[in-house]
Amino acid sequence: MRLYNSLSRQVEEVKPVDERTVKMYSCGPTVYRYIHIGNMRSFMLGDLIRRGLRFEGQDVRWIMNITDVGHMTDEVTDTGRDKMELAVDDEGLTPQQIGQKYTDAFLADADLVGIERADLYPRASDHVPEMIEIIQKLLEKGHAYEVDGTVYYDVTTFPQYGKLSGNTLDALRAGHRQDTVADPNKRHPADFALWKKAGPGRLLKWPSPWGDGYPGWHIECSAMSMKHIGERFDIHTGGNDNKFPHHEDEIAQSEGATGQQVVSIWVHGGFLQMGGQKMAKSAQNIRRVTDLRDQGVDPLAYRLLCFATRYRSEMDFNWDALQGANERLTSIRKRMADWSKEPRPEPLSEGAQGFDRRFRDAVADDLDLPQAMVVLNELVSSPAVSGGEKYALLSLWDAVLGLDLMRLAREAWEPSEEINDLVRQRDEARSRKDYAASDAIRRRLIDMGLEVMDTAKGTRVRPSG
Ligand SMILES: [Zn+2]
Repeated sequence: MRLYNSLSRQVEEVKPVDERTVKMYSCGPTVYRYIHIGNMRSFMLGDLIRRGLRFEGQDVRWIMNITDVGHMTDEVTDTGRDKMELAVDDEGLTPQQIGQKYTDAFLADADLVGIERADLYPRASDHVPEMIEIIQKLLEKGHAYEVDGTVYYDVTTFPQYGKLSGNTLDALRAGHRQDTVADPNKRHPADFALWKKAGPGRLLKWPSPWGDGYPGWHIECSAMSMKHIGERFDIHTGGNDNKFPHHEDEIAQSEGATGQQVVSIWVHGGFLQMGGQKMAKSAQNIRRVTDLRDQGVDPLAYRLLCFATRYRSEMDFNWDALQGANERLTSIRKRMADWSKEPRPEPLSEGAQGFDRRFRDAVADDLDLPQAMVVLNELVSSPAVSGGEKYALLSLWDAVLGLDLMRLAREAWEPSEEINDLVRQRDEARSRKDYAASDAIRRRLIDMGLEVMDTAKGTRVRPSG
């Protein structure tokens, strides 16, 4: 698979540095509010990259952080208060309870739009010691300085600062001239806080060598990525709005502390626009994934809608297009239910293999899902490929698409009493470790034209065609 690397500004082949497992880190949600569907598009990017790589047979380890401290301090309100602390006031819960509530909601929403769970969701608040350790290293190496309990990164000590975003230090200094609220303790206006001194009455604070305080936003991603996937890893994803300052600062921290390149490929997803307006959290038009469901739309139709736009481009959202995607999804699922009853030739015909090659090429080409959907639509209406083959190809491709295309085919099929009996007998045989008996029943089910799967909940069967 090739991906556009925001750092080199080129499309590059993904080659795991350890030659075995692709390691990927995605900037995750801030958890003091619900996640709107615009952000969900950027979280879907990591899921699609992982699915695309697995489709090619690559192993992937994917980490997505949960920001439950730090980021909020950069998003102070007009009254200068931390948003997590405002949520605590509004909802009468502790910061931990707020964090848990919105983490659970995020995961439930992510499930609804077909984002498979990451391998790990580390929480920022669980990694403060690791952050302090990196900050100490940066102080030792002369990349940071402390003023009255707050530690800043000295951007002038990192000559490559700006290499990701193109924001040079000179341009940043010029841009800050009019900044009336400049922090007088900073040596350069682009210097950023690694650690902040806790003010009076602050709830979320930790002891540190510089006194009680709390981490800046960017340091959490340096700490959690390097702890969980190492000081040299393959892919880092985020939204376009993370590129600067968040990822620029992360590079300065991680590379400043380790003295080496840490991330190979930086991938950034485009915004979602609603009626031409960027879906900012402050805007009125925030919609949660569950809002889609309440409007009678399958949240996976939103996923399908996203495939019409290349991930790096901004995407315009409107309800009409979503309704269209919803109808299209249902129509494909209905046809899949019909096709599931047709025989599936082995091997696939030349024509079907041609479609498969084109689909795989599109996915591997910097996740060109608009092109992959062109191939899919051609296949669906192609008179040259049999229904059984269409079913076989689409169920294969759904590993990348995650649209649950087999839903109606699955629901339309009912196992007979005889099959249910055999499944029960097999599970009993397995639970008493009688593997000869369980294998015999498995062979009988296969002879009946079924696919037999071992799941955590026991034997599952479905028609193999
Ligand atoms: Zn991040």
